[in-house]
Amino acid sequence: MTPVSTSPAARRSAFTQPERPRDLQIRYLTVGGSYVDVTPAANKRLGSRWHCHGCKAVSEFPDTDYLSRIREKANDHAGSCRAIPLT
Ligand SMILES: [Zn+2]
Repeated sequence: MTPVSTSPAARRSAFTQPERPRDLQIRYLTVGGSYVDVTPAANKRLGSRWHCHGCKAVSEFPDTDYLSRIREKANDHAGSCRAIPLT
């Protein structure tokens, strides 16, 4: 008999990945099984922004944060957010 897996990856598979925005730059999987998306800010030449599908948190300075800085912040959030997707 195969043991039941309790790994985070197995739990995450119970959730459906949201549709990918056309301008999606990066998508991180959170520890809660949700997703953090990185997309261009309103002024696409200046920066990027991130938002979490689980807890609805967003980046603080979307118009001034470059992708190189947003990447670390979004990944850090994904590594700590335990909110599960509600849809
Ligand atoms: Zn979150």
